[in-house]
Amino acid sequence: MLPKRPRLSDRVIARRHLADTDRVVLHDQASCQVMKILPVQWQVLALADGTRDIEGVALAARARGIATEPTDLAGFLEHLDEKGLLAEGPLDAPDDAGEPDEDLLDVPVEAIAGWTLICSGRGVCCEAFSTVLFTPREARRALVVLDDELHDFYPSRGVPRDEGPVAPIMVHGRCGYLNDQRRCMLHARAGTTAKPSVCRSFPMQSVYDGATVRAAFTFECACVVDGIGVTHGDPPFPRGARTLREVSRLVPVARLPERVTLDGSTTAPRAGVRRFYRALAAATPPRDVAAGLWAIGGALASSGVDAAETAYATEPELDTARVREAFSELRAAVSAWRAPLATFRSEADFTRAGLDWIVAAADRIAQSELPPAPPLGSRAAEVEAFYVTATSWGYADALGRVPLARAFRIRALRLWLARAIAAAPPDDPRAAEPLTVVEVLFRAVGLDSYAAGPSDGSP
Ligand code: SF4
Repeated sequence: MLPKRPRLSDRVIARRHLADTDRVVLHDQASCQVMKILPVQWQVLALADGTRDIEGVALAARARGIATEPTDLAGFLEHLDEKGLLAEGPLDAPDDAGEPDEDLLDVPVEAIAGWTLICSGRGVCCEAFSTVLFTPREARRALVVLDDELHDFYPSRGVPRDEGPVAPIMVHGRCGYLNDQRRCMLHARAGTTAKPSVCRSFPMQSVYDGATVRAAFTFECACVVDGIGVTHGDPPFPRGARTLREVSRLVPVARLPERVTLDGSTTAPRAGVRRFYRALAAATPPRDVAAGLWAIGGALASSGVDAAETAYATEPELDTARVREAFSELRAAVSAWRAPLATFRSEADFTRAGLDWIVAAADRIAQSELPPAPPLGSRAAEVEAFYVTATSWGYADALGRVPLARAFRIRALRLWLARAIAAAPPDDPRAAEPLTVVEVLFRAVGLDSYAAGPSDGSP
């Protein structure tokens, strides 16, 4: 039954996509449901914020010059409700979070030596994510900086919130502020400070692990690979900074939880997880890094973090049947994402192209052997080894909802996929660094829902 005072569920992300058509796409990432509506329908839907009944929404729409009959509106909302996109009642009041990271200001900061960032323009960061969040202040600044451009902003999820973050229009599947020369119009017009903080900080991330704050770059952009061994680019923390107090922070510092789930109901304390990740970041890579990561997953599930410290280097024999089973599960999950994306993204969109590359790579793996490790001493081998250093430094997987044992096995799958893409490279410059393509798609398209996986903890 239609909620008495309906609002869009917080699971739903509304984004306006301009291409051959102009539509607002409602995307439920949990169920893969997609529904396209007209911008004017969105204007009405945004008024259904859980505080108004149907009559109230229709009155509010008419007050804004949008002629709406309650019966028509009820039909529209019922359609959304049938798809599971609505919730009942107003949003909870936001927590008063206070100053972020106030308690961490005197904690020492650390970054990986010899890894810096220079934007080479090879990356796809401005076209991979359907959500580029602006604070309301940043959005207002964008209106002023680009006063001759079309602007429209959408809530990060669900219905609009007072002073909540907002996302701009997507044009041909990319951030609407990216121009045809693949440059940010905000940056070009008014410098880097005109961009939202998430863009200025990307791909930097920092994590407090109970002892220090460790900064790294997420492995989601080709520029990150270009920066391995480069010292003259921008480090994740300003050179010479010793504590967080000396670092200007654009995004809050993540925190390693007090306990981290390893597998099922087994957990490990923060100190043990910290020791394990620090050891892994400093470890000598095995001959086959992907097999080493898979072995860590097995050790975490059976014996905990102490055994996992040694599993990486020892690389026990692979249970290839289990790996293949995991690949088939991953392929099915990726395929499930392709159909809804195809309803509102063009074939040339990076996300669609990237998922196609992943599926094709998974199919090639299913039909032959697992892709072998790159030759010792090659650049590809160096990148794989550094990937483990970087993701361990940034506590990847220990911050999320995926049990660590499963997360490490999925990391191994990602490496095998990247090798398979590299072995038959798509004729597309965006595929130049396959590992970063796989990484960014896991986050940008919502594949981390797949990663969260079945409750039995497989693969
Ligand atoms: S605002 Fe600029 S930097 Fe950020 S995603 Fe859009 S085009 Fe890229």
